[in-house]
Order: sequence, then structure tokens, then C-alpha cells
Amino acid sequence: MDHFQLKDGVLHAEDVPLVRIAEEVGTPVYVYSRATLERHARVFREALSGLDNPHIAFAVKANPNLAVLKILANEGYGADVVSGGELTRALKAGMKPEDIVFSGVGKTHAELRQGLEAGIGQFNIESEEEGYELAAIAARYGRRAACALRVNPDVDARTHEKISTGKRENKFGVPLDRATEIYARLAREEALDMRGIAVHIGSQLSTLEPLETAFAKLGKLIAELRAEGCSVTHADLGGGLGVPYKAGEELPSPAEYGAMVARVTAGWDVRLMFEPGRVIAGNAGVLLTRVIRAKRSGNGPPFVVVDAAMNDLARPAMYGAWHDFEAVEPTGATMTAHIVGPICETGDTFAMDRDCDALVAGDLAVFRTAGAYGATMASSYNSRGFVAETLVDGDRYAVVADRIAASAIMDAERVPAWLA
Ligand SMILES: *Cc1c(COP(=O)(O)O)cnc(C)c1O
Repeated sequence: MDHFQLKDGVLHAEDVPLVRIAEEVGTPVYVYSRATLERHARVFREALSGLDNPHIAFAVKANPNLAVLKILANEGYGADVVSGGELTRALKAGMKPEDIVFSGVGKTHAELRQGLEAGIGQFNIESEEEGYELAAIAARYGRRAACALRVNPDVDARTHEKISTGKRENKFGVPLDRATEIYARLAREEALDMRGIAVHIGSQLSTLEPLETAFAKLGKLIAELRAEGCSVTHADLGGGLGVPYKAGEELPSPAEYGAMVARVTAGWDVRLMFEPGRVIAGNAGVLLTRVIRAKRSGNGPPFVVVDAAMNDLARPAMYGAWHDFEAVEPTGATMTAHIVGPICETGDTFAMDRDCDALVAGDLAVFRTAGAYGATMASSYNSRGFVAETLVDGDRYAVVADRIAASAIMDAERVPAWLA
């Protein structure tokens, strides 16, 4: 459930008409709903209430906006970060260092050090090599790093190949059949506190079976590790739960996910950790856009050219992803159209042959479910500047990320004197 609803014929975010935000902030602009974020955070937590003291870390990469992180920090969420930049954000938003997990296959020396200095709660180590590097840095600083070893369970998540992370051929984690020996060797490092294992098999999962398969493999691994004399007190089950991108689409609910987790992990005797991203933020945001013009082209449906583009919302171009597209002031009339942005790439296409509300030049519309992997993937391609972000709270809203003009980006560029 989200708080983007029609009221008196106008699409609102909570109690704010989107027309108002478009007029005051301009378009394209992301609009997030505080009530929706809080609701999703609570629903997910509630779904895990059958577990003993689960640790929930929001996957910052899904939506790293400071205001969004602040809301989740207030909900008691920690953070799953994958770069030094995300770590800085999580800390700035008020997440406690001990609630922060550092994931990622290519943490640099500087990033490992940054995590140690910040005193983060856990490093999810993705290779034996990374473990030794972290041990060396920790020893030099007189620290001990709490670690989980990320394993690659070789499970097909049955999601888009670009967001599948748990197949043998993917770059993430260590192979399951080598995990025990690697864990045991790393556990001998004085500066590492090897305390658990981690898994994350992919994103936008539409069934629970791949997760259950991966978790079951993790359960076997825990037993194996303990049989080898290793201590395992934590298991990080990652994120990945999908969200409905199409109205009426049915996906496993957080409650069903929580019940499955409780069943599969019964008797593990560990603290379970979670890294949800999309399921928290996805449906808590829309991308608000204005129609530049509708153009006829041959005999096919018209092209509706909107002022948002693939640089603002990359998912359709990158993953062929679907986003529901709706008028802010629907008249009841409908049309079939190709929805495209202004960028000079055929890939700058949001939808082909889409049945949608009838729209003409100047009309406002939204791409729904844009709160995760939306603004954060923005670029300035075609010298378009960076899209603005707003947060609605009841009948008020705030700009939570300024639009960064193309000219401001240009200000960072130099023509060397020797070209003059
Ligand atoms: C991206 C990512 C997540 C979050 O995935 P969602 O599908 O958004 O829940 C969690 N953990 C890791 C390690 C990730 O890379």
C-alpha cells in the first residue's frame, strides 16, 4: 500500500497535490512519501517479529537520499552500504555505526579503513583476499573487525540477469563449496572476528523459492562450520524481495517472506540480519514529469515525449523494466502510446504500445514505483543536470535534493591553458 492516490481528480502524494510540486519545483522531480516509507519499514519489521532480535539494515543503494535515510534511522533501521560514500551518508543520517554493514565485492583499502575508523558493526567479506587485506589494516590500527563471509550459493534467483547475484558465474561472494576452508583460515586471523555468513542472491525476486533454497544451503553451511570448530553467531540473509511494478501484480508479501525465514532458520541459533532495499523504498516514490509534446509517427501509436529521461530513471533502459505511467489529472479518456524521453538514444524509451491515460502537451504524469533505484542511478547524460527530489509529509513537502543544473556540472570542467 502507498500514499499516492487520486483526490478530487488530482493525484496526490499524501495530502499534497502533485500539481503543486510540479509548479513550485519544476519537472522532472522525484516525490517520496514519508508515510509510505514508514509504513513499509514497519510492515517489514512486523513480518520478522517471530524472530529473535533481527537486525535490519536498509540497503542504502536503493535510495541514499539523506532524508530517506533519516526516516529509516528513526525507524530503528541500520544501513547496508556498498561504498565509502554510502557509509558517510548513513552516518550523517544518524545511523549508528554498530548498525552498519559494509557489503561489496570491491571495497578499496581506503574504504576498509574508513569502515574500521567509523567502528561499523560488520564487514561482509566477499573474498579470502579481501579478508587478509582487512586483517592487515585492522592490525595496523589496533582494531578487530567483525566479519561475515559472503557466500555465493549458486542459486538462480529467476530475476533480471543484471540484478542476479547468486549464480556461480556472478562476481559476488565465495563459492559455497570453498566457504568452510576460507572461513576457517580467516578465523585464524587475530584482527578478524569471523562471526557469520552472508548471502544476497539478487533483487526484485518474484518468488520465495530461490531464497528458500539459498537459505537452506546456508543452514547446512552453518552446521559444517560448527563441525569444523568455527563460531557462527550471525547470518545475514540479504535483501531481494520484489515489489509490484504493475497495478494488481501479486508478489510474496513481507509476511510470507518472514514466515518462510522463520521456518527455514529454526534452530540456527544465530542473530539474523536483513538488508531490504526495494521493498522499503520502491513504492514510496514516483517520478513526476510533464509531457513536452505528443508526436505522430507513421501509422503506429503516437510518441508521448516527456521531460523525464533515461538519465533520470534508468531502469527501463537498463533492465527493460516496467513502470506504471499515469496522468496526474486523468480525464477518464485513454490512449495507446509509446512513452519516451528527449534523450538522443532509442534506449530512452519508458514504454512501447502502452495503454495509458490520454495525455497532451503540458499535462503532468508520473512513473510509479520509482522510489528505489531511481534518482540514485541518475546521470547528467545529454548535459541534462541532476533531477530534484522532494519528500511529502502530510500536507507539507520539502525539497530534499536540489536540482543540479547542467551549468553547475560544467563548472567542474576545465579547458587546459595549452588548448587555448
Ligand atoms: C542491492 C543489495 C541489497 C538490496 O537489494 P533489494 O533487492 O533492493 O532488497 C541488499 N544486500 C546487498 C549486498 C545488495 O547488494
